[in-house]
Amino acid sequence: MRTTPALWREARRWRAAGRTARLWWRDDDASAPSAALDRLLKAAQQTRIPLTLAVVPSGDMPGLAARLRHVSGVCVVQHGVDHQNRRTGDAAGEFPGDWTQAQLQSALLQGWGRLQRLPNILAVFTPPWNDVHPRLEAALRSLGYDGWSAHGGLGDQGGGADLARADVHLDLLRWRGGARFRGRARLLDSLAAEMRRRREAGLWDAPIGLLTHHLVHDEAAWRFLGAFQHWSLGQRELTWFGLPEVIGEACEADDQLRSAGVTRSKK
Ligand SMILES: [Zn+2]
Repeated sequence: MRTTPALWREARRWRAAGRTARLWWRDDDASAPSAALDRLLKAAQQTRIPLTLAVVPSGDMPGLAARLRHVSGVCVVQHGVDHQNRRTGDAAGEFPGDWTQAQLQSALLQGWGRLQRLPNILAVFTPPWNDVHPRLEAALRSLGYDGWSAHGGLGDQGGGADLARADVHLDLLRWRGGARFRGRARLLDSLAAEMRRRREAGLWDAPIGLLTHHLVHDEAAWRFLGAFQHWSLGQRELTWFGLPEVIGEACEADDQLRSAGVTRSKK
């Protein structure tokens, strides 16, 4: 794959510093088995890059559980409660601005409960449309979630914090006027910019999240995803991590977590 001048220059700086950028991969909106999901899982299997599936807890959960049961290298996180927009106005979100923390918690728990059949589930929440309600973090914290994931932040990578945050930064798609591939140069230049941001802040280890949406990829998006991931595996300045390593949690919920809701004792 052809790189861009900006990425080439930035990668050279990282190499000179002996640093490696930490990438992770989140795919949104799975809620049932599908041909597109099969293609996504195949892509992950071919590269062995760890995949985090952000699953909407409404849909064919038993079917999805069966599809994922014998798949390795994939973990599941909660993507919203039902992916319905309850906002008026421009910015979409599941939770109206005037909802209390108790209302958020009740909705979060209902969604969490519907995910319990799925294998390799992590107590991590990722809000649809990356919408961060003012009371979301407190609600997640008080329910005992291990982490959350939205867009654009340098995040908190665990290390003692009780609610780790690992965001996504590189969107494979552009959305205005219909979902389609963002473009090779735009995406690689975004990667260079994210690397530069971390280098300049001295936060070399802050993860860089790639965001995909398997249900709406066009062919160009699929082709780039495969080419980029294969190429990245040969780059010394880039390494892929699974979300559990990024946020420092095991990629398995324990029995207590499964049966008793989210709240559990900390390891
Ligand atoms: Zn979504």
